Amino acid sequence: MAVIPQIIAGNWKMNLTLSQGAEFIDILLSRLSGKELSRQLLLAPNFTLLSMLAQRCAGSGIALAAQNCAFQEAGAFTGETSVAMLKDAGAAYVLVGHSERRQIFGERDDLLRQKVRAVAGGGLRPIFCVGETLDQRQGGEAFEVVISQLRSGLVEFPNRQLIVAYEPVWAIGTGQTATPEDARSMHVHIRKFLEAQFPWGERVPILYGGSAKPENAAELLAQPEVNGLLVGGASLDPESFLQIALV
Ligand code: PEP
Repeated sequence: MAVIPQIIAGNWKMNLTLSQGAEFIDILLSRLSGKELSRQLLLAPNFTLLSMLAQRCAGSGIALAAQNCAFQEAGAFTGETSVAMLKDAGAAYVLVGHSERRQIFGERDDLLRQKVRAVAGGGLRPIFCVGETLDQRQGGEAFEVVISQLRSGLVEFPNRQLIVAYEPVWAIGTGQTATPEDARSMHVHIRKFLEAQFPWGERVPILYGGSAKPENAAELLAQPEVNGLLVGGASLDPESFLQIALV
């Protein structure tokens, strides 16, 4: 099994204004000062905070992700934000296919495939999110659903700059976390798929997301198949985000 440095990514969703985000990052940077971190930290704020955070995080080792992007490069697409614009604002990563985008905004596999390609084509790194609903899990379809999302989203992915996040929909924002064993067994399946699909598949980080918090981060991160966490609610407070990063 390849050794992959762990990543702790905070997804702020549609939370935190400019001043709240500035306060968060000032606290985080001051708490981190003088500490050697073994994990890569990522923050995924709203678009409006990217430039400000990029300036404050310069030289800190904290990287930024956008939460979404357009699949088109430029043009008459009112309300959309291109990968080039996100890069310009300081993002190095983009979340694609978060279950809230799939479920609330109806983003389907073919659109997500185009977004993943746009991110890679624009020189950023997609964090491609996959995960089954509770019904699908209870119906015994979890592995099939996740592999089908991967297969359709990642077809002909053009380079090695890929991250996958396994986020069971029933665990997102619900307080119900997958057991380390649930996460492990899905990550093993995802890894097999990636290895079969890509010559570099053994090196793709696979993150777990779904009600990760300081109380359960250690046991999730102790699974060798779990290469990091995508954290929603618990990333909104710098202290709990830091506790997760330092477990
Ligand atoms: C997420 O939105 O990616 C997420 C994992 O949320 P939460 O940690 O709040 O479940």
